[in-house]
Amino acid sequence: MTEASSPTPVDPAAIDYSGRTCLITGGAGFIGSHLAEELLGRGARVVVLDDLSTGQLANLERAQTFRTFRFIEAGVGEYEDLEQLISDADEVYHLAAAVGVDYVVRYPIETVTRNIFPTERVLELAAQHDRPLFLASSSEVYGRGSASRMRESDDMVLGAPDKTRYIYALTKLVDEYLALAYHRQRGLRVVIGRFFNVVGPRQTGRYGMVIPRFVTQALRGGPITVHDDGNQIRCFMHVRDAVAAIIGLMNNPAAFGQIVNIGSDTAITIRQLAERVREATGNHVRIEHIPYEAAYGSGFEDVRCRIPGLDRLRTLVKLGELRDLDSILRDVVQYERSRLAGSDEPDAELPVAER
Ligand code: UDP
Repeated sequence: MTEASSPTPVDPAAIDYSGRTCLITGGAGFIGSHLAEELLGRGARVVVLDDLSTGQLANLERAQTFRTFRFIEAGVGEYEDLEQLISDADEVYHLAAAVGVDYVVRYPIETVTRNIFPTERVLELAAQHDRPLFLASSSEVYGRGSASRMRESDDMVLGAPDKTRYIYALTKLVDEYLALAYHRQRGLRVVIGRFFNVVGPRQTGRYGMVIPRFVTQALRGGPITVHDDGNQIRCFMHVRDAVAAIIGLMNNPAAFGQIVNIGSDTAITIRQLAERVREATGNHVRIEHIPYEAAYGSGFEDVRCRIPGLDRLRTLVKLGELRDLDSILRDVVQYERSRLAGSDEPDAELPVAER
């Protein structure tokens, strides 16, 4: 497909999954568990394969109430019966990966081993069995970025190898190149989704993600720790909108062989975000600015501005109005309040270095 040919956007709300079996790798994670629930609710049988290294069984509590749900605790790279699982599935969603800036700068070796070989295995088996595949990638692949919108056809500008965060971008780029190669050489029906700051209930702050971190900091009485001057820009998408985008893409044959940004394009600075979190919790806590080095050690480089171009996504999927930041913060505050109320492990959400 070329963008000029303008396929009809698929309305995700209209997709029925009755009779389909879906395999979700990384399905105990944040996005995967929301996807699992949504597909189950639409009538699918869902199999989740997850090694629980960063995902949690608690995320699957609702999914486990469906008789059509099955959970397997194993890593994608090691699981012996992966071929059977893929051939038994009608479609595959490959979300298992190392996640979070904090995780990546601390565990660069695991980032490579967990992000490349398992994906290669999934691609090969999906191609052998001709199963459609959604591959999760990340806006990290754009690297340093620029003040303008990031589009799928942009060049990639990564920092030097001593800037550790870019190892994640590199692993996801290898995945993307491989997926496109399988599409071209083997006819694999694969769509690559580049997530831009997808947020919502169940996302953990443990690996660095800013919204759960700010919300838990505010609920615990502060301070909220903003890195650097807080003028860096991000756009946040509610996980339920991201799930709708995934469903729309996988049900639009014109999406196969494409890389597609998945995100919101409403921009906010991180300082403004801290203020909005403070309002949303009703706790008038202090907002403290700390240097990047104090958070991530030396050799860290932030992406100062990240705004997705959404033309391709909107050409393929009828997304409607996206949930705004108020709605996102309402959901996250409610989730974190009840999680904290039931937790006797007060610092489990903080990055390892800060516990
Ligand atoms: N950030 C922050 N305080 C935190 C965690 C993150 O100020 O406790 C900043 C971080 O430096 C970055 C932005 O928030 O500029 C988004 O960070 P996140 O790790 O959520 O996502 P990414 O950098 O991958 O977009």
